[in-house]
Formats: sequence, structure tokens, C-alpha cells
Amino acid sequence: MRLQNKVALITGSGSGIGKSTALLFAKEGAKVVVVDLAEESGKQTAAEIVQQGGEAVFIQADVTNAEAVERMVNQALGHFGRIDILFNNAGISGVGAIHELTEELWDRVVNVNMKGVFLPCKYIVPHMMENKSGTIINMSSAIAEIGLMRRAVYAATKGAVLTLTKCMQVDYAPYNIRVNALLPGTILTPFVEKYLKESYSDPEEGLNTIRKRQLGGELGRPEDVANAALFLASDESKFMMGSPMYIDGGCTFG
Ligand code: NAD
Repeated sequence: MRLQNKVALITGSGSGIGKSTALLFAKEGAKVVVVDLAEESGKQTAAEIVQQGGEAVFIQADVTNAEAVERMVNQALGHFGRIDILFNNAGISGVGAIHELTEELWDRVVNVNMKGVFLPCKYIVPHMMENKSGTIINMSSAIAEIGLMRRAVYAATKGAVLTLTKCMQVDYAPYNIRVNALLPGTILTPFVEKYLKESYSDPEEGLNTIRKRQLGGELGRPEDVANAALFLASDESKFMMGSPMYIDGGCTFG
């Protein structure tokens, strides 16, 4: 098993990519700290891990709230004693060209997608520095590299996460901490279903537009990203440091 005896904390693991990753990491031997704002779905992920014979604990936390994140880290350390892998996956969308965005929506997307990466790192990195070991995966997006209509604030936050990843890698390489970023293309999850409903009167038409962007002609599945996260979390990727990893069906460079 590729993550035997490791403890992984995954934010936003009540749904979509985070959930799929939590289940896969557990199958590969990791003890998983399932973190989500949504209580019911977070508990469900942890329960499924236990059903499949793994170990998991659910901690409800809002990744934009410093007190909640500090508490989450203390609870996770209290439960499993260590954190080896941090996957900053929680994120939200935000649709509109700049002139259409309310300040409130701008702040919300920036808060969840950027501060929601900063805070878990702030409270977990000192623990990894002490252990002289750790792996951090930050969720960026292929959209960080391409311009798409009415996605300005979302794309800006994902570009920022990519830059943050590179800077963090330089700061923490001396402590044997690796920091890499995932850049998925469009993956069919509740997040994308919501985006399609918000942006198209006919979601099927929206799906077809997205399909045309993919060289393979289809959207990705949460498992596609979970497999990439597993590689980044494991020692198999030990020579990857500060790298963007594309899982995008060719939409970035196609
Ligand atoms: P999803 O909506 O299925 O899951 C996101 C989870 O994050 C939800 O369970 C939600 O409750 C949780 N969450 C939201 N705000 C939170 C907060 N403040 N604190 C704690 N948890 C919070 O979405 P997904 O498609 O699985 O996306 C996961 C990540 O992947 C996001 O960062 C997203 O931007 C990124 N991403 C998704 C796609 C895609 O096409 N689905 C593509 C590129 C990147």
C-alpha cells in the first residue's frame, strides 16, 4: 500500500474530488481526517471509509475561519498524533465577468479558495517542520492557465494558488516538505453541476461546450484527480517539488 502509516487531512472531502481522494487514500493505507463545512456529507465520507475497512475521523470546519482551522488541526493531531499529508482541496466557484460580480461574491471566492489554503498551511506546516517531513497538495485548476468567459475571480484565485505553491516550496524545501499543485480540467462533480445550472438555460448545452474543449471529448471523473493526488501524496513523486500537475483531458494545451 502506497500510504501505509500516513495520516492525510483533506479539506472539502465531503463531496466530489475530495471525497474520491479520501476513499482512495484510505484504500492505500492512510488514516484520513475528513474536513468539510457540510456536516452530513463529511460524516458520510468518513463512514464509507470505515465501511471499507479503513480509519477516518470527520472534523467539521470552515477553512476560512482561523479559530476553526486551529481547532481542526489540534483535534486531528489529538486523534491521530501526526499529519503527514495535507490536501487543500475545498473550493467554490463564482461566475461572472468582473463588472457583474458583487463585492460579496468576490470576497467569498477569494476567502474560500485562497485563505482556505493559507490557514490550514499556517497551522499544519509548523508540525511538519518539526517532523522534518510532509507533503502538501494545493488545488489549483487548469483555468489558472487559460482564459475562460465569466470565470475571472475563480481563475484569479486558482492562479494565486499555483504561485503560492511555488513560493511555499522554496520556503519549506529545507524541512523536507514537498508542495505541489493539481490543475484539473472540468471534472463532473456537484460543483460543475451547479456551475452548469447557473450559467446555461440548458445544462446539456453547457456540457457539450465543455466536451468540445477536451481533446478526449469527455469530462474527467473525480477518480482521475484522486489518482493524481495519490501520486503526489506518495514517495513515488519525491522528485516533484513546487510543480503544477495537469489532469485536464488536454484542455490546457490542446
Ligand atoms: P464539490 O463542490 O463537489 O466539493 C467541494 C467541497 O468543499 C464541498 O463538500 C464543500 O462543502 C466544501 N467546502 C466549500 N467551502 C468550504 C469551506 N469554507 N470550508 C470547508 N469546506 C468547504 O467540488 P469539487 O468539484 O470536488 O472541487 C474540489 C476542488 O477542486 C475545488 O477547489 C475546485 O475549485 C477544484 N476544481 C474542480 C474542478 C471541477 O471541474 N470539478 C476543476 C478544477 C479544480
